[in-house]
Amino acid sequence: MSAGPSRRTVLRIAGAASLSLAAPHVARGQSAGRVVVVGGGFGGATCARYLRALAPEIGVTLVEEHDSFVTCPFSNTVIAGLNGMDFITHGFDGLAGAGVTVVRGRVASIDADGGQVVLADGSSVSFDRLVVSPGVDFKWGTIEGYDPETAEIMPHAWKAGPQTGILRRQLEDMEDGGVFLMSIPVNPFRCPPGPYERASLVAHYLKTHKPRSKIVLIDAKDSFSKQPLFMEGWEQLYPGMIEWLPFADTGYVLRVEPETKTVVSEFGRHSGDVVNLIPPQRAADLAVDGGLTDGDEWCRIDQRTFESAVMPGVHVLGDAAIAGAMPKSGFSASSQGKSCALALAAILQDEEPPEPSLINTCYSLVAPDYGISVADVFHLADDGTLKAVEGAGGVSPPNAGPEFRASEADYARGWYRSMMTDLYG
Ligand SMILES: Cc1cc2nc3c(=O)[nH]c(=O)nc-3n(C[C@H](O)[C@H](O)[C@H](O)COP(=O)(O)OP(=O)(O)OC[C@H]3O[C@@H](n4cnc5c(N)ncnc54)[C@H](O)[C@@H]3O)c2cc1C
Repeated sequence: MSAGPSRRTVLRIAGAASLSLAAPHVARGQSAGRVVVVGGGFGGATCARYLRALAPEIGVTLVEEHDSFVTCPFSNTVIAGLNGMDFITHGFDGLAGAGVTVVRGRVASIDADGGQVVLADGSSVSFDRLVVSPGVDFKWGTIEGYDPETAEIMPHAWKAGPQTGILRRQLEDMEDGGVFLMSIPVNPFRCPPGPYERASLVAHYLKTHKPRSKIVLIDAKDSFSKQPLFMEGWEQLYPGMIEWLPFADTGYVLRVEPETKTVVSEFGRHSGDVVNLIPPQRAADLAVDGGLTDGDEWCRIDQRTFESAVMPGVHVLGDAAIAGAMPKSGFSASSQGKSCALALAAILQDEEPPEPSLINTCYSLVAPDYGISVADVFHLADDGTLKAVEGAGGVSPPNAGPEFRASEADYARGWYRSMMTDLYG
C-alpha cells in the first residue's frame, strides 16, 4: 500500500501551512493539463506526488536520470559506518503507485516554446507546464587540477552514490594516526551545515576505531551554520581531534596535487591521508545548459509560484533556485515542491496561486545520540522574496543536557523516515 499523501492530507498540510490558502478546485474527470517534472529528488518527487494527490485530473510525468534516488541526507552516517548504502537508496515504485508516470532518462534540452523536453535518447515528453528540480553541479575548473577524474582520488561525496562509497572505503583503509582533510566551499552551496555534520560523524568513527587520527577542515568562510552548537559538541565529544581553519587562515583553495593528496590554498599547503574536497557549486547542468540561469549560476524565479523569471511556463525548485532566505536543503526543496504543486493546480484552473508559506528544519548529528537543529518558517515579503518569519523559528539551545541532545538525534531519524515515506512510499 502506498504511504503517500491522500488528497485530504495534502489539503490539511496546505491548510496548516497557510491559513489564507484556498485549495484550487479541479473538477473530477476533467483533464486539467500535463505537467512534466524533471528530477526525482527532494523537490521533484514531492511536487509530482502532491500534485497528483491534490489534482488527480492533472497528468504528471516524472523524468529521472537514475533507477533510484540516493539521498544526501544521512549519507554522512554511511561514510561514518553507521548505516549501509541501502538505507539511503529509494526506488520510484511508490511514486508510480501514486499515479505518477515515471520515465527513466536524462533530459538533454528544454523546448519551452514547443512545450517539450528532449531526452538524451532523442525521445521527447510534452507538457503544458514544466517543473525542474535538478539539484547542483560542480564548478569544475575553479580549483586547478580538480576534475571528475581527480574526484575518484579526492572524493567530494557531495552527490550521494558511488562517491559516498569511495569516501567510506578510504576512511576504512586509513591508518590510525592519519589525517582526514576536508575542503569546504564558499556560499552558496548545498546543505550549509552538511560539512560540519560530516566532520562530526567522521570524528565519531575515528574516536571509536582510530583514536590517534585527526580531522582538519579548510574553510572558505569565517563562520558557519550552527557553529557554536557544533563547536560545543566537538569540545565535549572529540576534544583536540577537529581543527577548523577559517578563510582568514587559509584563503581560497587554488589547486590540488592528487599524487600527494595535497590541497594548496592562498596561505598554505595542507595534506591528508584522506582528502574530502567539496568543490564550489552552481545550479545543475540542465538549468545552466537549458537557459534557466540566464548566464548566472542559479535560477531566478517568481518566489510565489517558483516560475522561472526567464522562461515562462517552467518552474524551478530546490537547490537550483534562488528562493529568498531559504537554505539549499532537502526539507526546503520538499516544502517548495508542495507549494509549487498548489500553485500549478491553481494556474492550470485559471485561478490565483495561493500565498505560499514554507518551512525548513535542518537536523545535524554531532554523534549518533547527539543531535542539533535549526528551524524556520518562510513567507512572501512585500518585496516578493521569501523571508523568515520573525519569532517563528528557532535553534537548539546551547549547553542542553544529554537527554535533550539524544531526543534531537531521534527527531532527526524520525524526520528522515517520515520524509522518505512521504516521498517514495
Ligand atoms: C552530505 C549532505 C548532507 C545533507 N543533509 C541534509 C539534511 O540532513 N537535511 C536536508 O534537508 N538536506 C540535506 N542535504 C541537502 C539536500 O541533499 C539537498 O538540498 C536536496 O537534495 C536538494 O533537492 P533537489 O530536488 O534540489 O535536488 P536533488 O535532491 O539532488 O534531486 C535532483 C534529481 O534530479 C535528477 N536530475 C538532474 N539532472 C537531470 C536531468 N538532466 N535529467 C533527468 N534527471 C536529472 C538527479 O538525478 C536527481 O535525482 C544534505 C546534502 C549533503 C551533500
